[in-house]
Amino acid sequence: MRKSYKIVNCFWCVVIGVPYPFNFDLTRVSKAFFREIMRVTYDYNMHRRMGEAVRHLIEKFRIREITGLDLTEAIQLVEDLIEIHIKNAMNRERFESASRKALFLPHCSRKYMDNRCKARFDPEIPSYFCSHCSGDCLIHQATLLGEKRGYDVYILPGGSCIKKILSKGKYDAVVGVACGMEINMAEKILNQLGIAGQAVPLIRNGCANTRFSIESLREIL
Ligand code: SF4
Repeated sequence: MRKSYKIVNCFWCVVIGVPYPFNFDLTRVSKAFFREIMRVTYDYNMHRRMGEAVRHLIEKFRIREITGLDLTEAIQLVEDLIEIHIKNAMNRERFESASRKALFLPHCSRKYMDNRCKARFDPEIPSYFCSHCSGDCLIHQATLLGEKRGYDVYILPGGSCIKKILSKGKYDAVVGVACGMEINMAEKILNQLGIAGQAVPLIRNGCANTRFSIESLREIL
């Protein structure tokens, strides 16, 4: 839970840009207070109303220049990232208390998308399973990391596979790496099934050669 609060604090430090002119210590305040802040922020759609702050972030980190996105696209992207962090924080406690966890990885982050990838595909599940042919493949690294932390790891050909895997009732928590659109789709399924979710957004999307931060995944796991 503490890590998630750090993300939000860092975000506000960036937005506000100044340190507090006073000292504070919230360590004795109930965790419910922080959960409630997240919930109020989300319920009132406040992250969608922070136009100025979001624009400031986009300018400060030169998002448009670096990515080539126009302002509307950049705003949508940043708002989605904020929303993902808020939802992660809201679900964190429930997620941490779960014991049967799955990690869903996107097949488009494989090093190879053709037969040079030696992953086995099981259509019954449906999922790829990494054969670890390339040490520098992101999916190989994420698979090892997930398995080491006790997760069942699935490499999904698409978001529609999620429901089939989860409907067997084998898991009570899930970490998903995906683009914002698929994270939203997965969230609806998780809510229907009462499964706690944590999301790691892609930092490069597309149909192939997509990327995510292995460090962000490590922190979430
Ligand atoms: S390491 Fe795994 S996912 Fe990556 S290309 Fe090889 S078999 Fe495919």
